[in-house]
Amino acid sequence: MNILGHEQNPNGTSIDLAAEGSELVYQKCMAIASNLWWSWHPEVVHLFRDIDPVRWRELDHNPIALLREFTPESLAYRANERVLHSRINYAYRRLHEYIGYNSTWAHTHAGVLGSKPVAYFSAEFGLHESLPIYSGGLGVLSGDHIKSASGLGIPLVGIGLFYNHGYFKQRLSADGYQSEDYIEHNVENLPLTPARTPSGSPFVVRLETRSGELFAKVWKLAVGRVTLFLLDSNYESNRPEDRELTSRLYGGDERTRIRQELLIGVGGIRILHAMGISPGAYHLNEGHSAFATLEAVRLRMEEDGVSFEDAQRDIADSTVFTTHTPVPAGHDRFHADLIEEHLGPMRDQLGISHEHLMSFVWRALWPNREENAIPIGHITNGVHVQSWLAEQMRQLYDRHFPAHWTNHMGEPGVWQSIHQVDPGELWETHNALKTMLWSFVRRRLVRQMSQRNESQESIDLATRVGNPAALTIGFGRRFATYKRANMIFRDLDRIAAIVNNPARPVQILFAGKAHPKDEPGKRFIQEIANLRGDSRFAGKVVFVEDYDINVCRHLIQGVDVWLNNPRRPLEASGTSGQKVILNGGLNLSILDGWWAEAFNGSNGFAIGKGTSHVQDRITDERDAINLYEALENQVIPMFFERDQDGLPAAWIQRMRNSISTLAWRFSSHRMVMDYARMAYVPASGGVSSSMD
Ligand SMILES: *Cc1c(COP(=O)(O)O)cnc(C)c1O
Repeated sequence: MNILGHEQNPNGTSIDLAAEGSELVYQKCMAIASNLWWSWHPEVVHLFRDIDPVRWRELDHNPIALLREFTPESLAYRANERVLHSRINYAYRRLHEYIGYNSTWAHTHAGVLGSKPVAYFSAEFGLHESLPIYSGGLGVLSGDHIKSASGLGIPLVGIGLFYNHGYFKQRLSADGYQSEDYIEHNVENLPLTPARTPSGSPFVVRLETRSGELFAKVWKLAVGRVTLFLLDSNYESNRPEDRELTSRLYGGDERTRIRQELLIGVGGIRILHAMGISPGAYHLNEGHSAFATLEAVRLRMEEDGVSFEDAQRDIADSTVFTTHTPVPAGHDRFHADLIEEHLGPMRDQLGISHEHLMSFVWRALWPNREENAIPIGHITNGVHVQSWLAEQMRQLYDRHFPAHWTNHMGEPGVWQSIHQVDPGELWETHNALKTMLWSFVRRRLVRQMSQRNESQESIDLATRVGNPAALTIGFGRRFATYKRANMIFRDLDRIAAIVNNPARPVQILFAGKAHPKDEPGKRFIQEIANLRGDSRFAGKVVFVEDYDINVCRHLIQGVDVWLNNPRRPLEASGTSGQKVILNGGLNLSILDGWWAEAFNGSNGFAIGKGTSHVQDRITDERDAINLYEALENQVIPMFFERDQDGLPAAWIQRMRNSISTLAWRFSSHRMVMDYARMAYVPASGGVSSSMD
């Protein structure tokens, strides 16, 4: 049904939605909530928030859960009361315009992809805090990738898993130790619909193994113009243990993992086939979906009657594989008997031996090429600007940037306009965001302390943390030990002197989860969280529980400085610092991952000179000293030096340098444009073009 057709007045000036019927209001709101497009449009986010601001927050910003608390009548009543009708119509119309728009970047630059979309496989997708199918950076990267593919008009379908318990929610006990809560999510509150075959029946994936059959339901999710298919093993025909297979992200043992990977890889290809989609390119983001290549080969042999070797060459040519963990421990290895149990039936159909299969999967991706002719390259990660940019900054950009600048976020010229922005205006906007960050932190602190039954006295203290004049440093990421979250506390006296200087106060915010099995990571959290018991750090060093996309968004939008001190060269990229740039924060980082490419001497701060010692102990010691020196000699003096207008002129200049030199380069629009030109178009049989 085209409910848009009911509208009389395209300008939305005098539509009386009440007259159109409350049912229609409800359907329009649900239609908007059912496409994650809403999540990167602040005016639409605010529309949902304004329906019921308290419940909005309590429900993790989940519009479907919110709307389900209303009947069509009560929603229409609320919309009348709060004068939301024209905003509902406007959002609804914009969504339809977005979906129907076809003068996109891909239309002119990647036409060869045409009706043959890219199939993008990933074990996690970080799209929004209300959709718990991600754990950290890899998921957020996949989420940002498909949002930009949507924005650029690249035909792409995503394949992933639906985890009905998602990743855990983090809680710290009174002694600062992390515990994990898994919450079952109600599918009815999520924007998922059963995937149906072209003939209309719900599609179920069926996979054969040597030990029996495995089934999965398939959910469909709309992310702008992109469709994501999610496999869910919680299906009645499965054995009880198999119904749990996809319940948690990165849970279970080797057997759970290989079965999850069978679902995503082989199951994923079967979904595409059943939906009548024939991809021009397969993009496997990390190795979890590697089995997709085998099923694609099998399918090519079956459909086109070609030999194993021909099909293999074909599929290899149209496969793009990306890894972000180029170390052996980052890749799954399975026992030969687990491989045989799960891929045996497939091997029979491929007509190859067990030995041949083992060599095909793990070594011979390009069996016919010399090593130096194997096409391995690199594309730097980026972030989805509209998802991470604060509304206040966006309004500032809207005032000073070229019209329709959001259509050109991957182009350098657009961001040069930041140099025309008045320093006072930029500084004020940034400080407003910092104030919002601290009120978020206070709210979270009070909540987490009340849950731990802490004393009223310490809760009262928490309602007063956050000095708006202080330099605010943020650190938020997974507590993997190589990221060395506790490095700044290596010399407690020295950091105590830094944060307690009354003329130049400093405060530090931490957030992050440790993997449930990572004991050393949990001890890092404990060490930092327990500093609140040390009078030198109480109220100055704050740990915010349950790092997720929502906590990350608040942190990166409001900090003055984003700290990143991984042990070189272990950080493949890192993306949180890229989110900071857009909002005017400055990076203070070890020269590793993306920062080694980005830092130019005046667009942020470096810790050390990008060298490390063969002994970790010595590297850690030197890096900590370099961190203190950067803080004491560069960051803090520059932040507190004010001109006659009371502005930190040199600091603001650095903010502008950071925005103008980095925002376009580290946007996921630039990243996906690179993938299109250097990987997707060639894989689909078009001519490769390098970056200009
Ligand atoms: C962006 C983001 C990350 C990535 O953090 P890095 O360590 O900088 O790569 C992790 N988790 C969440 C929730 C994020 O939003």
